[in-house]
Amino acid sequence: MINVIKPFMPPQKEFDQYLKDIWNRAWVTNNGPLVNELELSLKNYLGVPHLFFVTNGTIALQIAIKALKLNGEIITTPFSFVATTSSIVWEGCTPVFVDIDPSTYNIDPELIEAAITPETTAILATHVFGNPCPAEEISTIARKHNLRVIYDAAHAFGTFYKGEPVVHQGDISTLSFHASKLFHTVEGGALITHDPEIANHIAHMRNFGFHGPEAFQGIGINGKNCEFHAAMGLCNLKYIDQILQRRQHLSETYHSMLKALQVGRPFLNPDPGFNFAYYPILFDNEKTVLKVISALQAIYVYPRRYFYPSLDTLSYVRPDQPVRVSRDVSSRVLCLPLYHDLSVEEVKMICRAILRAERY
Ligand SMILES: *Cc1c(COP(=O)(O)O)cnc(C)c1O
Repeated sequence: MINVIKPFMPPQKEFDQYLKDIWNRAWVTNNGPLVNELELSLKNYLGVPHLFFVTNGTIALQIAIKALKLNGEIITTPFSFVATTSSIVWEGCTPVFVDIDPSTYNIDPELIEAAITPETTAILATHVFGNPCPAEEISTIARKHNLRVIYDAAHAFGTFYKGEPVVHQGDISTLSFHASKLFHTVEGGALITHDPEIANHIAHMRNFGFHGPEAFQGIGINGKNCEFHAAMGLCNLKYIDQILQRRQHLSETYHSMLKALQVGRPFLNPDPGFNFAYYPILFDNEKTVLKVISALQAIYVYPRRYFYPSLDTLSYVRPDQPVRVSRDVSSRVLCLPLYHDLSVEEVKMICRAILRAERY
């Protein structure tokens, strides 16, 4: 069976060594040494001053919205994982959808200004499939209208934008380290900011608001992660270069095998340093997508319709927001299996099945 993803597993004896140390220390959570080591290593790897390891990428988004004290309307993309939108609603704000650029599948900056109202407080955009948003244009708009910017960078670990890691963009960037992501800690996530004041809020908020053992600096939640997840992250970070290289190689194999196929692909930001987080293709119509899915399932290959449905169709958002391009792309997109252990032979087998299905 070939799923759309399979988690990267580091050599077990490397994890075992960390486990022994955790057992000996009996310090399993609450800002332990491995959490600190992982945060330091990630700050170094990404070149950022403040990074907070939290329980998952969804809590990272929720803390981001809280830490920036957002309210009212948040402009966002309808083409993302559900957590991008649900976090906005969970935090008591209203998502306002702006359609995506049909070439990149990221929020279209040209359409943002028309969606700004006196209630707008922020823009929450996703670097979809690891392809960076046009962050310069977005920050120009945000400055002009005094809005905050959050990037859901759950797909963008290892991606560069204008020569630096894309997580340098925005007031806050959030990451997910879920097992399905290319760098993972089984469950986990992070918040990144350059602003020391925002960092201070995040630090307190992820730990119940505690300010020392007997005082509180405002409201908080339990968003802290633990030594076991940090150990997995430290094991996996050692292999990040190999992980990124392997994904590029497999993506290029897909690319050359599927050249003959009339499918669309996102237009990638031309800057060097793309992470090949997913392998999405866009068929001519939904019927072909369904035909290809059943042909692949017949040989035990399970691609996923990332992202379907478009988030403007959720039951808990305002229903009157036409986002034509997002609905269209989500009805036709398919993400093919892509993970470290996938073999070139398997990619070729998948491609042959797609080519056969498309022909008939
Ligand atoms: C995975 C993902 C999330 C949620 O991350 P979790 O760690 O699973 O909570 C949020 N946004 C996007 C775009 C994602 O792909």
